[in-house]
Amino acid sequence: AIEIHGLRKSFGDLEVLRGIDLSVEPGEVLCVIGPSGSGKSTLLRCVNLLEQPSAGTIRVSGVEVTDPDCDIDAVRRRIGMVFQQFNLFGHLTVRENLTIAQRRVLRRGRAEADRVAAENLDRVGLADKAGAYPAQLSGGQQQRVAIARSLSMNPELMLFDEPTSALDPELVGEVLAVMRSLVADGMTMLVVTHEMSFAREVASRVVFMDGGVVVESGPPADVLGSPREERTREFLHRVL
Ligand code: ATP
Ligand code: MG
Repeated sequence: AIEIHGLRKSFGDLEVLRGIDLSVEPGEVLCVIGPSGSGKSTLLRCVNLLEQPSAGTIRVSGVEVTDPDCDIDAVRRRIGMVFQQFNLFGHLTVRENLTIAQRRVLRRGRAEADRVAAENLDRVGLADKAGAYPAQLSGGQQQRVAIARSLSMNPELMLFDEPTSALDPELVGEVLAVMRSLVADGMTMLVVTHEMSFAREVASRVVFMDGGVVVESGPPADVLGSPREERTREFLHRVL
C-alpha cells in the first residue's frame, strides 16, 4: 500500500505539489490524470524518493520513506517503475537487461536469474526475444521488456509514468494488454496515463490533478463519466 499525507514539493520558488493526500490499497489500481505540468510525474517520483519531498509523509507498505533514517534502497527494491522512455541498456541483450539487477541487487545466481527472466518474458509475450538487443525491437516490445525487467525484481507495487505516450498508436494496445494482465493478477499499481479508456476499464479510482492539487477523485465512472468539478470537465473535453 501507498499512503501519502500533505505532500508538498517545490523546485526553487515553484511549488509543484501543494498538499497531496492519497492512498493506494493492496491490489488497487489508481490512475492519475491531469494536464501537462500539473505535477503527476513529480508525485510518482516522490514515492520512491527520486525527488525529495519538501513536506509531508509517504508510507510504502508501512515504511515511512520520508523518515531520514529509512533504508530507501530496501524500499525501492519493492517498487517497480516504468517510464515513458524505456531506459533499457542498449549494449545488453534483453535477457541481460532482465538479469543484471536481479544478480547485483538481489544477489540471485545466474541460473535463477535466467529462469525468472524467462518467466517474465513469457508473461509479456516475448519469450523468443531473450537474445535480441533493444534496438532490434519495436517501441512496444521495448516497453514490454521494461515491464518484464521490473517484474523480475518481484515488486510489491508498480509505478507507471505514461508508459504508452512515446509509442506509435498501433503499439499502444500491446502494452496496455500487458498492464491489464498485471491488474488481473492483483498487482498494486499507481498509473499516470492519458489513456482514458484504460483508466475507465481498470482503475479502482481515478485522481484528477491540476496545479499541484488533487481536484477530484473517485470511481472512474464518476470522475470520467460525470465529473463534479468544472476543471475536470474542461480537461476531459480537451482530451476526449
Ligand atoms: P506532463 O503531463 O507534461 O508529464 P506532469 O504533470 O508530469 O506533466 P511534472 O513533470 O511533475 O508535470 O512537472 C510539474 C512542474 O514541475 C512543471 O512546471 C515542471 O517544469 C516542474 N519541474 C519538474 N521537475 C523539475 C525539476 N527537476 N526542476 C525544476 N522544475 C521541475
Ligand atoms: Mg509527467
